[in-house]
Formats: sequence, structure tokens, C-alpha cells
Amino acid sequence: MADAPQIPTVWTNRALLNWTTEYLARKGIESPKIDAQVLLAHVLGCKKVDLLVNFDQQPPEADRNRFKELIQRRVNGWPVAYLVGTRDFYLLTFEVTPAVLIPRPETETLVAEALAFLKPKSAPAVLDIGTGSGCIGISIAHQKKDSHVTAIDVSPDALEVAKRNAAKAGVADRMTFLQGDLFAPLPAGATFDLIASNPPYIAGHEFAGLQAEVRDHEPRAALDGGADGLAFYRRIAAAVGPYLKPGGKLLLEIGSTQDESVRGLLAAQPDLEVGPTLKDDAKHPRVVTAKKK
Ligand code: GLN
Repeated sequence: MADAPQIPTVWTNRALLNWTTEYLARKGIESPKIDAQVLLAHVLGCKKVDLLVNFDQQPPEADRNRFKELIQRRVNGWPVAYLVGTRDFYLLTFEVTPAVLIPRPETETLVAEALAFLKPKSAPAVLDIGTGSGCIGISIAHQKKDSHVTAIDVSPDALEVAKRNAAKAGVADRMTFLQGDLFAPLPAGATFDLIASNPPYIAGHEFAGLQAEVRDHEPRAALDGGADGLAFYRRIAAAVGPYLKPGGKLLLEIGSTQDESVRGLLAAQPDLEVGPTLKDDAKHPRVVTAKKK
């Protein structure tokens, strides 16, 4: 094979990283260098920076074999976060399993807005609908120390992950986890200062064009927003009013093309006033905001 990378005789960290970076790139992986570093650091139980400091170290064969297995699964489409079992989000590291959506940097826009709104409030009540890994609710509880956060998910497996993440972040005593569909598990009369959600929002016709690593590995229930992608926004818009305190805020993450539709759904509710839509770091519309009148 003329284009195969040369096999080194001694497998140092440097040689492993160089060879793997080239291999992943040839297999069409988008961020081959970072992926190689993250996977090797995971196998060796060290930080990425330690790999570079110890460039000439030779990992034992058992570690090299585990690394090789991970590389193969990566090439087969497994997301790095599931291979290493964690993903950094906002200021915390979250455990992730294939039962939960991998937290995305776009969602940090929602968390930052939530925290800005909650800052002047004392002991606010917060609701995170479809909490998944818990990244939204837990980040809020972690940064707003007198908040109480209720986190709901329909998936019991996701809730187990979220509960472990809450315990790890030291916020479990200020959180309530409920299993069920949207608002269904809430006690009668429950109201909140802030309700946040990053609901499933992929439309049926979009699945075919989705990145294979998302489509084939992340939970379908966390992605599938029904035929037009708006099913959950429709249901949330229709039901949310009574759960918000007067002046309470609703923050909904959206797909970048859904701004107008979701604003329309919220504007149709007489007790809601639609606010500005926030953009993510890539300048795409990402978080629709509304207030309870
Ligand atoms: N709330 C979680 C997140 O933002 C899960 C969202 C989902 O599964 N749609 O990552």
C-alpha cells in the first residue's frame, strides 16, 4: 500500500499519535488529531497535555491494544464521548452513555442566558425538561447555589446518568429528578421562575442527511422531533403557561432553521410574550426566549 503510513519500530506516544492521526484522517474522521489525543489519554489515564510532555514514553502493549480497539470503534462511527464516557460542558465534565444525547457547545448559550436571568433572584425554582445527561439543569444548579432544579426525562436510563452527574457535581441535594413525559410527572400547582429545554428537534426528512455518527449512535428519542421537527415545541407551547410564575422565563433551544416557527408557536399563547432569539457562537439562531405575562 503506497499511501499507508510507515509503521514505526518503537511505539512511543509520539509515534502512536502521529500514526493514528494520519489513519483517522484517511478514514474521513473530522478531527483526527484531537480524537487521537483524547483516546490515548483515556487509555493511559492521563491528561492530554501529559501525552505531549511524555512524548517519548512507550505505553505497554496492553494499553496499545486497548487504544487500537478504540481507534477501530471510532473509525466505525462511534462518537469519542461515548468511547471515553465523558464530555466537558460549560464548567463541568459530564458522564455520557449511549442512553443520553452528547452535550453540545451550542447548549451553553442557553445555560449562560439562564444564569444571567437567575442571578438577581433568590432561591429560584428551575425546570429542565428532557434533561438527558442533565447538562442544562446541573450546570444551573452548580452555578446558582441557591436554586432548586427539577429535571424531567422520559427515559429512566437517561435519568440514572443525570443523577450520577448531579452527585458528582455536588448538587444532588438541590435537584429533583422525575421520570415521565414533559410536564406530566410534576405535582399539581408546581410553578417555576425558569423553564428550560433542549427538546428533540430533528424532522423526519432530515434523518437521512444527519451525520452518521449522530444518527446511528445517539438516542433516537433525544433527536426525533416528529414529521416537521416541531412536535415538542408545539406541546411545550400549549402546556407551559400554568407552570411559569408571572414574569417567569422560558428558554428553548432550537435547530438553526426553526426560529420563526417556534416563535410563532409561542406567540400564539395569550399568556406568553416572546423575547429576542439568542445566537450561538457560530451566529446561528439557537435559543428562543419568552416570558410569562
Ligand atoms: N438536555 C440535554 C442536552 O441539552 C438532552 C437534550 C435531548 O436529549 N434532546 O444535551
